[in-house]
Amino acid sequence: MSILITNTTVVTVDETHRVIENGAVYVEKDRIAAVGDAQALGEQYSMAETVVDGSGKVVMPGFVSAHNHVGYAVFRGRAEDIGHAPTHRLYLPMSGVIAQEERQVIGALAVTELLRGGVTTILEMEEDAELFAPFIESSGIRALIGVMVNDLNLEALARGETVFDGAVRDQQLDQANGLAERWHGRADGRIQAVMAATGLSTSSPELLQGLRQGADAKGLRLSAHLGFGERDLVQRIHGMAQFDYAGAHGMLGPDVVAVHCYEVDDDEVNILAQSGTHLAHCPHMNQFRGEVAPIQAMRAKGMQVGLGIDNYFSDYFEVLRSCLASARIRAHDPEILSASEALALGTIDAARVLGLDQEIGSIEPGKKADLQVVNMQRLGLTPVNDPVTTLVYHGHAKDVELVLIDGKVVVAEGVVQSADEEDLISRAGLAADAAWARFSQHYGGFSAALPN
Ligand SMILES: [Zn+2]
Repeated sequence: MSILITNTTVVTVDETHRVIENGAVYVEKDRIAAVGDAQALGEQYSMAETVVDGSGKVVMPGFVSAHNHVGYAVFRGRAEDIGHAPTHRLYLPMSGVIAQEERQVIGALAVTELLRGGVTTILEMEEDAELFAPFIESSGIRALIGVMVNDLNLEALARGETVFDGAVRDQQLDQANGLAERWHGRADGRIQAVMAATGLSTSSPELLQGLRQGADAKGLRLSAHLGFGERDLVQRIHGMAQFDYAGAHGMLGPDVVAVHCYEVDDDEVNILAQSGTHLAHCPHMNQFRGEVAPIQAMRAKGMQVGLGIDNYFSDYFEVLRSCLASARIRAHDPEILSASEALALGTIDAARVLGLDQEIGSIEPGKKADLQVVNMQRLGLTPVNDPVTTLVYHGHAKDVELVLIDGKVVVAEGVVQSADEEDLISRAGLAADAAWARFSQHYGGFSAALPN
């Protein structure tokens, strides 16, 4: 299959952040074959099977979200106003009562929303993440998937005690390794596995070592929430500083995607940077918790930073804006970062965090054809004085019109091809109602009281 998208503005996000007016992109099979001037490519590739008129539109790389929990869309409207409490009041308790098919349909809804808004790659880590793999495969999205493990004994946790449980650990590691064995490399490599932990206070040394062994044996990346408000807890439980503990058991290094890292001092930033650990920065989610990671300091020290959505949300344009706003508020400096840098953080930089920058993240010949076409002839996007600045500050998921992944059309005219939108919305709503009814019956309300 070949597609020529022409008479358009191409935002390449290549090394020089080149923007081509009156440009074109030619896609052959799963790869970008040529990028350049519309007239020249029109003559050269007049045999293209499909020609898309891109006038009034922008072609840019698909967004890469280095951190997601798609099934957590179930918490929308119940988690946003309760600060750091959702883990103990909502996430862990819900994992005990939600049915697998409910989690599955809610995850499918979230993946559909992500595609609709131009997100072409995610790192998805969650309890029972393998439930989402079949839909991820059929939807066409590119993904690293991992079972997000902990080895806490939940009954002890309900009494306020942290007890690591060998039986839980074995079950969790089996589940994580099983997903990797069954799914890593599937769909021509579009699906990869990742070894993932919830955090450090919820992981024994043996659990982290088990993840590291699994990752090394299969050549996988690792990911964990780090530096996200558990510094004192890690010290108390493990008797070590948080990143000493992470480093001692294999959870720092150039193959590790650390998530959040907003509770870090200068020394800790040095440890992260020197270890080569990458950061999945989730500014949209974290700003609602009153937190922002010091990404300017991290980048200055050579740390690779990329953006992620995290929970509940699906409009990636919001993440770009939150990245800019939170960095500027933190620094009290309105000129920190630019729209162009924010777009890079959400595409090529996030691809680098996932180890995929040779394949995706920019529009360049030879790379995988993972791209989105945004219609600029819409309310809120006119005038287009500068395509990148206009998109980053004013774009929305609903402005995305066409999305390709591996050269395949996954969104056409704003419609996700792999799902019946109305049916999915209705089924996900019913699934969430059923899960919350069970939650409420079990815990006596919409918030459980596991102690922090
Ligand atoms: Zn998370």
